[in-house]
Amino acid sequence: MKIDIMTLFPEMIDAVMRESIIGRAQDKGLVEVKATNIRDYALDKHHKADDAPYGGGRGQVMLAEPLYLCHQALSAGEHVHTVFLSAQGQPFNQQKARELLAKEHFILVCGHYEGIDERVIEELQPEEISVGDYVLTGGELPALVLADSVTRLLPGVLSDAACFEEESHYNSLLEYPQYTRPPVWRGREVPEVLLSGHHANIAKWRRQQSLQRTLERRPDLLERADLTKADKKILETLKANKIL
Ligand code: SAM
Repeated sequence: MKIDIMTLFPEMIDAVMRESIIGRAQDKGLVEVKATNIRDYALDKHHKADDAPYGGGRGQVMLAEPLYLCHQALSAGEHVHTVFLSAQGQPFNQQKARELLAKEHFILVCGHYEGIDERVIEELQPEEISVGDYVLTGGELPALVLADSVTRLLPGVLSDAACFEEESHYNSLLEYPQYTRPPVWRGREVPEVLLSGHHANIAKWRRQQSLQRTLERRPDLLERADLTKADKKILETLKANKIL
């Protein structure tokens, strides 16, 4: 998979993408995340990539032509799925990450300042994605969020593919609580079942915890979750016992 990121601040992308699991995935050749400086496609000798907004008002707006030329160079005449990170886009979630996983190559466009000239959006017709209902200074952090969440789903990136099948949001459920050594920490014990070595009981306990957490913290997710008869029974019991 190749992820191209168009940005005015490529060092921000490189600093994060070179580290840890994603860095190792790149070393193994499972993904290539490449940050390209939009300024390199500026037309003047000062590499100007923004200007004052027409109609007045505060801030600067990113120029259309450097963005367009940069996109042309990265897509090399092919149709490449393009995402503009925008506070006005559709909310990002695990489902969107899985959709992007199906693409061999995609381009992420990071805005900055007051945003980008609207005509680039009209011309490139990108998918617009938001990472939440708040405004950041630039699209770099959102682009990193997308690149990270998609890359970790690629086969071979995580040591055990099954681990994300149990993770939060995989099936619209939150994950069960996790514990590691020591078995007693400052008087707090690890739930006994986890020390029992009884795999079926552990799986049952984890499923119940997962359902309970989702009911407590994000009941809205349960509407989309793929629930078995047994899950539904657990949820009914939790509600009836007013565990919540
Ligand atoms: N003036 C814009 C508005 O009101 O919609 C906000 C511009 S913001 C300061 C600069 C850039 O940061 C945006 O063009 C976008 O690329 C990025 N950005 C800010 N918040 C974002 C969010 N919640 N999700 C995705 N991108 C965001």
